Amino acid sequence: MHLSRRITGILAEGNDGWGVFYRARDMIAAGRAVVELTIGEHDIRTDPTILAAMDSAARSGHTGYAAIPGIAALRRAIAERVTARTGVATGPENVLVTPGGQSALFAAHLAAGDPGDRALFIDPYYVTYPGTLRALGLHPVPVATNPARAFRPQFEDINAVAGGARSLLINSPNNPTGTVYDRATLDGIARAVQDHDLWLISDEVYDTQIWEGAHLSPRALPDMAGRTLVIGSMSKSHAMTGSRIGWIVGPQAAIGHLANLATNTTYGVPGFVQDAALFALRAGAALEQRISAPFRRRRALAEAVLAGQIAVRALPAQGAMYLMLDIRATGLSGEAFALALLERHAIAVMPGESFGNCAAGHVRVAMTVEDNIFTSALGTLVEFAQEMTRDGAMRRHLEAGPRTREKF
Ligand code: PMP
Repeated sequence: MHLSRRITGILAEGNDGWGVFYRARDMIAAGRAVVELTIGEHDIRTDPTILAAMDSAARSGHTGYAAIPGIAALRRAIAERVTARTGVATGPENVLVTPGGQSALFAAHLAAGDPGDRALFIDPYYVTYPGTLRALGLHPVPVATNPARAFRPQFEDINAVAGGARSLLINSPNNPTGTVYDRATLDGIARAVQDHDLWLISDEVYDTQIWEGAHLSPRALPDMAGRTLVIGSMSKSHAMTGSRIGWIVGPQAAIGHLANLATNTTYGVPGFVQDAALFALRAGAALEQRISAPFRRRRALAEAVLAGQIAVRALPAQGAMYLMLDIRATGLSGEAFALALLERHAIAVMPGESFGNCAAGHVRVAMTVEDNIFTSALGTLVEFAQEMTRDGAMRRHLEAGPRTREKF
């Protein structure tokens, strides 16, 4: 039977750099002990107090259809949180509760463009971005960034490819790079989207994981609230990845249409999950800090492990639960490095190439294992990189061969 181009085309053709991830999974299935530093899943589970709230909500009967755009109290709590953090007056009418950030990304792009429209996203990117756009029939257009600028998109980078586009998707704090966009970067982004009349879709699911500087939501910049759709999620902030709860914050008219979309797609989020999310938000910043603390701690540990050598250069990890490591000194691609590290030392990291062309020659390390295992694995990675750097230098020297006299 015929299947639509939109569904068969979700995955890109060719090597997507995920071979290392699947190889690690196979090794684990075959009983090998692999240190898994690949995906963004906390090493702690959802807090027992949140689970107790979920249990009590379900047992007291919140198991039927729940309010589709989100229960009123949760929409209000999200709106208050956004107002407090950004200073932009936000009401429940600006909030749609969604089953996680991923479905919010899909819905926001459906609101922003029609099939065939160009949709911009920043390279390197979170892995689902191009597939989400392709599933909607949008034409994905990467905006190239430069590792020398910590992969922060410049006005010129966006301006160069923005003609005829409908939207720009950004993500700060960033997965995979750990970069947090500063005011100047966001000002450039705002100028580009205003010049080209684009929707800005701002994925802020890591907004509670800031290690350096501050999180700035571009919705708070002048004249941006009317053209910005913010993606939020409790997956990372509250270790609730499996509960599937997130949101979109945006202009009331857009949220109204997005609520119609929810009625015709997800039919909302289970009521007991929404009650648990409300409980978790009401627990305030102390709970969020407890959940983000292990990553802050491991980032400091990583700094010590990476000091005093040049084979591996870390990008400044300003936020999120990842380290982006530049391993170009080894002469290997990110993928070759990650595969060899897996085979030799049973340590799994993601090749930069899995996140787009711009992160080639890098690997991403998720800081999601216990501190001692993490530092020891990172130490092994550094030693391995040093060995590869020496071997590479020797190989290049030998390949160059003996110098021959030129004949006249
Ligand atoms: N955006 C980014 C940048 C992510 O890293 C993730 C999950 N890893 C998501 C969105 C989606 O998260 P969820 O659907 O669990 O909210």
